Amino acid sequence: MKKIIGIILPLILIFHCSVSVLGTSQEYGAIYCRNSSHLKQVALTFDDGPHPRYTKEILSILDEFNVTATFFIIGVNAERYPEDLKRIVNAGCEIGNHTYSHTRLSQLSSKQVRWEIERCQTVVQNLVGIRPVFFRPPQGAASESVKTVSREMEYDIILWSIDTRDWELTPSAQIAATVLSQLKGGDIILMHDYVSGGNTTCDALRIIIPEILSRGYEFVTVSDLID
Ligand SMILES: [Zn+2]
Repeated sequence: MKKIIGIILPLILIFHCSVSVLGTSQEYGAIYCRNSSHLKQVALTFDDGPHPRYTKEILSILDEFNVTATFFIIGVNAERYPEDLKRIVNAGCEIGNHTYSHTRLSQLSSKQVRWEIERCQTVVQNLVGIRPVFFRPPQGAASESVKTVSREMEYDIILWSIDTRDWELTPSAQIAATVLSQLKGGDIILMHDYVSGGNTTCDALRIIIPEILSRGYEFVTVSDLID
């Protein structure tokens, strides 16, 4: 079964990417995996935080190299670690909505999907006064109801073009090899600041950021990448 899911999920993601509206739509609810018209820019994205240890560590690495990123926040974790959410904003990074409880949205009604997005939005607004404009569904599962609700709530959906699989504690050298071998201008790189049981993301960042900069790319927020 695991094997079947492993085959089906990338196919779903490829489908999403092939129907993406990249930077041309004025309507909300567009799905972005990459913006191939921004050839000298890439966007780092971190999901599932804030985390009481690793969000801070990632922000300090970003600061060390003077680069920016976008963090897709889980509402529950923002409530648990509000100071770390504030750190992200104070560092000038962008905040996206990644639902309140990181539940599998394909199993929910439209009303429940709306609640998940709205509750995360309210938590973020109350804590840092920012209303996110980007939504990333857990597992990248952008079903019809997720797309409809996102559009109604004036969110664009942000997926990714490079998946580091850091959430399964992939060794940092392997994460770096994945990113550096696939990297193209306009890429959206998927990483995580909240992973249970350890962290290989920080060491991978210390390898990939200077290398990506030396290739002449600029790190930008998702807003700037899809602009
Ligand atoms: Zn997630």
